[in-house]
Amino acid sequence: MNILLLGSGGREHALAWKLAQSPRCSTLYAAPGNPGIAEAGTCVSLDATDHGAVIAFCNEKEIGLVVIGPEAPLVDGLADSLRAEGIPVFGPSKAAAQLEGSKGFTKDLCERAGIPTGGYVRVSSEADGLAALEKFGAPVVIKADGLAAGKGVTVAMTMEEAQEAVRDIFAGRFGEAGAEAVIEEFLEGEEASFFALTDGSTIVPFASAQDHKRVGDGDTGPNTGGMGAYSPAPVLTPALEAEAMTRIIAPTVRTLADEGMPYSGVLFLGLMLTEDGPKLIEYNCRFGDPECQVMMLRLESDLVDILQACAENRLGSIQPPRFAKDTALTVVMAAKGYPGTPEKGGSIAGLAAAEADGAKVFHAGTALEDGQLVANGGRVLNVTARGVSVGDAQAKAYAAVDAIDFPTGFCRRDIGWREVAREQSQD
Ligand code: AMP
Repeated sequence: MNILLLGSGGREHALAWKLAQSPRCSTLYAAPGNPGIAEAGTCVSLDATDHGAVIAFCNEKEIGLVVIGPEAPLVDGLADSLRAEGIPVFGPSKAAAQLEGSKGFTKDLCERAGIPTGGYVRVSSEADGLAALEKFGAPVVIKADGLAAGKGVTVAMTMEEAQEAVRDIFAGRFGEAGAEAVIEEFLEGEEASFFALTDGSTIVPFASAQDHKRVGDGDTGPNTGGMGAYSPAPVLTPALEAEAMTRIIAPTVRTLADEGMPYSGVLFLGLMLTEDGPKLIEYNCRFGDPECQVMMLRLESDLVDILQACAENRLGSIQPPRFAKDTALTVVMAAKGYPGTPEKGGSIAGLAAAEADGAKVFHAGTALEDGQLVANGGRVLNVTARGVSVGDAQAKAYAAVDAIDFPTGFCRRDIGWREVAREQSQD
């Protein structure tokens, strides 16, 4: 079967690497892809916003499965356009992708379905937003309703900061994504991510992970798309996973199906592990980046079988995904300046040496210039390794990082620190 993968980040390189390992994958096409993905498949130039062009490509190349990596094409309805042409696609419809595309939509759904989450108020003007802040007091969380590339959320510790965030949103900082906002109760606890697959009726747990959002060691500095991750997340115990399945995921899938918006694809839950149990912080409608990289390194099952069964509404007919019992950990190497303006064009070498002891380097923002690998984005490489513990995986990942020659790059040196500290305290 020929497969088309859409996207160009580290998440898509991990998906491409795993898809290409399947004996069921004939030609893997990726649009636009990146130099790492080009080692696993054929990169083509295709505009994902041009649904007609994607459909024409699928027909010409006899594509049997389309895998949509990032959220924007899903929120834009690409999966609906493909399904209307009878092309199997992994990823939710535009209606169901509102789980990520509109924070207010998700909060209302949680309320209708009795799903544990923070209290909230939806607002559509600065005056209403400022009034809603008074209801909660500081600390409080302010979110632009729509997609804002991970930048639309402010966790405000003071009322002044909160008021500024509300004013910013309604002054147009996020464009259309900020036409509405959600003011939300601040939740306290440790964060973890959980992933489940569903075809709209069957739900299959996938894996847990924890990421590191802040740019600096010790979780300091501004938020980023993610500077590293590990899977599984031991803090998400089997009991907590079961609770998330029954109290959050199952009612979400049931309610969306009952309301005529069945969800098909991966559900990515951001959870806060509070004293009252896990509460939903947010839903994403695609795999996480860099969480996908660590999950793919542990996945033992055939990814083509899993994603195709999901796309064809027969998830109940396949074996549940199997994962290696050990830990995978990834360190993001970013270009200096990130998450502000990253330095482009810096040379990168040493990837073969980094992979010599079994680590895997996924490409995110890289490019080839006259045969030389260079940085071409904020997050550039995801250096990923497996180990018998988080500490072991961490040591192997950093040994691989140290073999890479990327003078204009940087990374955090403490990915996995919480879990490594817990492991050490148990020794
Ligand atoms: P989101 O894009 O909704 O995941 O928010 C980004 C980050 O903001 C999350 O990963 C949390 O660290 C933080 N956050 C979001 N909502 C809350 C909340 N209600 N309470 C505390 N922190 C939050």
